[in-house]
Amino acid sequence: MQTDLPHIAIIGAGLSGLILARQLAPYAQCELFEKSRGLGGRLATRYAGDYQFDHGAPDFTATSAAFQAFVHTLEQARVVVPWHAIRVRLQPGKPPVISEYPERHYVGIPRMNQIGKYLAQDLVVRRQVRITRIHGTPYAWQLQDEQGNDYGPYDRVISTAPAVQTAVLMPDLLAVQSVSMVGCYVLMLGFTQPLPLSWQVAEVTGSAIRRIQLNHTKPGRPAGGYSMVVHATSAWTATHSEADRVWVQAQLIRSAGELVGQDLNQAEHRAVHLWRYATCPPAAEPLLYIDDAGLAACGDWCRSGTVEAAYHSACAMADTLGHDFAQQTGR
Ligand SMILES: Cc1cc2nc3c(=O)[nH]c(=O)nc-3n(C[C@H](O)[C@H](O)[C@H](O)COP(=O)(O)OP(=O)(O)OC[C@H]3O[C@@H](n4cnc5c(N)ncnc54)[C@H](O)[C@@H]3O)c2cc1C
Repeated sequence: MQTDLPHIAIIGAGLSGLILARQLAPYAQCELFEKSRGLGGRLATRYAGDYQFDHGAPDFTATSAAFQAFVHTLEQARVVVPWHAIRVRLQPGKPPVISEYPERHYVGIPRMNQIGKYLAQDLVVRRQVRITRIHGTPYAWQLQDEQGNDYGPYDRVISTAPAVQTAVLMPDLLAVQSVSMVGCYVLMLGFTQPLPLSWQVAEVTGSAIRRIQLNHTKPGRPAGGYSMVVHATSAWTATHSEADRVWVQAQLIRSAGELVGQDLNQAEHRAVHLWRYATCPPAAEPLLYIDDAGLAACGDWCRSGTVEAAYHSACAMADTLGHDFAQQTGR
C-alpha cells in the first residue's frame, strides 16, 4: 500500500461507496465503513430456510451508455443477468393486464447482494461499524463509531449514507439537510406450494401495494423456495411507519391477497421490513456535495433513487476528487 496517497474514509458500502472506492483506488487509500454485516446496501437479500428475498431493489434498469457499459462488465463476470419477466399491471378487482416494458431489467445472481460482494473484492471494508460522529480538523478528520472507537485521521471523509443519515453526520453540509427520501414497507412471503399466478412481476395502482415480485422466478435462483416480495406504496408506508409491525404485516397480506385473488395467509414464512430511506424523487439537477474542509457526500439521492443514479453519483464524485488528487500527487 502506498502511504503517500491521500487517506479517504468512505461511509457506507452500498453501490455508491463501493464504486467510489474502486474508482479512487489509483489516487487514494480508501477505507470503507459499513454499519451492516452485508455489503451492497439497498442491493440486499434476506434468507429464511429455503426462501430468499431480494428485499431492497428487486431489479434495476440501465439507460445511459456509461451505466450500460458498467452493467456489461458485471454480466461478463456473471454477477448480473437480464431478467425477462412476465410483467403485468394490477388494479384491485380487475384481472392482470400484460404489460410490455421497453427497458431491460437486470438482477444480481444468485441474488442481489452478490453485486456488493463482488465489488467489495480487494477493498478495505470495516463491516458492522456504525459511524456516529466526525470530529477533528479540516483534512485531518477522525471518525467515531457507536462504541466510542476512533479511526483516522483522514484527509477526506465522504458519506454515501442516505441523505437523512448523511445530514446527521455532516450538519455543515447545509444543502443535504433539505433532501427528502421516501420509505417502503416490504412484505416477504414464502410458500410451500406454488400459487396459480401467470406472471412474475406486477406493478400495482389504486392500492396500498405498489409492486409484487415472485423472487424465486428470477434467473439463477435455487430451485424451490416459492418467494413473494411485496412493496407498499411510499404514501401508505409514510402513514403507517410507526404502526405495530404485526398489524402492518396483516394489512399488507390482506391487500396483496385481494390483488392476486389468493389467501396469502397460507404462507409458511411471513416477515415485514421497513426501509425508512428506500428511494427519492429525481433532483431538479444532479448534485454533488463537497465542502472546502475535506467533507463530501454522494449517493443515489443526489440524482434520483435508483441504482443507476447511485452509480453516476459515485462516478461524478470520483472524477472530481480523482482529478484533485492526481494534481496533488502528480499521478
Ligand atoms: C424497497 C426498495 C425498492 C427499490 N427499487 C428500485 C428499483 O426498482 N430500481 C432501482 O434502480 N432502484 C431501486 N431502489 C433503490 C436502490 O436500491 C438505491 O438507489 C441504491 O441501491 C442506492 O445505493 P447507495 O449506495 O447510494 O445507497 P445504499 O445502498 O443505501 O448504501 C448506503 C450504505 O451506507 C450504510 N450506512 C448508513 N449510515 C451509516 C453509518 N452511520 N455508518 C456506516 N454505514 C452507514 C448503509 O448501511 C448502506 O449500506 C429500491 C430500494 C428499495 C429499498
